[in-house]
Amino acid sequence: MAIIIDGKNLAKNIRQDLKLEADKLKERGIIPHLAVIMVGDNDASKVYVRNKSRACEEIGIEFKEYILPSTTKQKELLELINNLNNDRKVNGILLQSPIPKPLKIQEAFNSISPEKDVDGFNPQNVGNLCIGQDGFIPCTPLGIVIMLEKYNIKIDGEKVAIIGRSNIVGKPMAQCMLSKNATVTICHSRTKELKKELKDADIIISAAGKRNMVTADMVKDGVVIIDVGMNRNDEGKLCGDVDFENVKEKASYITPVPGGVGPMTIAMLMSNVIKAAKKQNK
Ligand code: NDP
Repeated sequence: MAIIIDGKNLAKNIRQDLKLEADKLKERGIIPHLAVIMVGDNDASKVYVRNKSRACEEIGIEFKEYILPSTTKQKELLELINNLNNDRKVNGILLQSPIPKPLKIQEAFNSISPEKDVDGFNPQNVGNLCIGQDGFIPCTPLGIVIMLEKYNIKIDGEKVAIIGRSNIVGKPMAQCMLSKNATVTICHSRTKELKKELKDADIIISAAGKRNMVTADMVKDGVVIIDVGMNRNDEGKLCGDVDFENVKEKASYITPVPGGVGPMTIAMLMSNVIKAAKKQNK
C-alpha cells in the first residue's frame, strides 16, 4: 500500500517558515503585499481567493482584493493591472481565473509586470522557466516539485507522464520535470493510447480535471501518483482524477484530494510573494 503524501502538513510547515521570513522583512519596515483581482461572480474562485487571503493573514502578508463586475471591459482590467504595476506598495499581482469570456486572459497576464507576476504566467517568466533562468514558477508545478523532493522521491532519469497540457499546470509541470532530468511524456485529449503511456511511467501527474480517469489497471506497481484534479463526486465531495482507493494499493506514493496538491499550491503562492518582496527591496 502506498505512502500517502501529506500536502496539508508539508504546506503548514512551509507557511511557518515563510512567517519567519515575513517577520524579518517587517523588522526592515517591509510588509509583503499581494493584490488579487477577481472579475465576475464565480463561486469556486471565491473559495480559492478566501483560502489565499487566510494564508496571507497567517504569514503576515498584506492582502488586497479587487472585485470587478462581469461587465468589465478589457481596457479597464488592463488599467487596473497597470496601476498595480506602478504601485510600489504592491509586490505581487494575481489575476484569478477564470474571467468572463469576452475578456482576454493571456493579454492580461502579459500586462502584469514580470517582477510582480507571482503566478508565473507572464511570457517572460514562462521563458525563464524554459531556459532555466531565475523567475517565478507557476505555483502548482512548483509545489509538486517541492513535495516530491521533501519525500525524497527520485526524479532524475525517471519516466514522468503528465496528463494535461494547460499553460497553468501541464506545460510548466513538464518543464519543471525536464529541468530535474526526468524523461517527460505529455498526454492530452488527443493522446492515442493513454493507458500505454501511463503504464510505462514511474511518476504520473494527472491534471485533466476528469474524475476516475486514472484507474488501477492503467498504472504499474510502485508508481508515484500526483493528483492535481479537482472534481466533485456524486455526493458533491471534492475528489481528484485518480481512483484513489484502488490505485493506492499499487502505488508507492500517492497524493490525496483534498489535502495533497491544493495546500501546496497556496503555500507556493505565499513563497512567491515573499520572494517578490525581497527582490523588490534588495
Ligand atoms: P484544463 O481544462 O485547462 O486542462 C485539462 C487538460 O487535460 C487539457 O490539456 C486536456 O487536453 C487534458 N484532458 C482532458 N481530458 C482528457 C482525457 N480524457 N485524456 C487525456 N487528457 C485529457 O485544466 P487545468 O490544467 O487548468 O486544470 C486541470 C485540473 O487541475 C482541474 O481539475 C483543476 O481544477 C485542477 N487544478 C488544481 C489545482 C490545485 O492546486 N490542486 C491548481 C490548478 C488546477 P486538451 O488540451 O487536448 O484539451
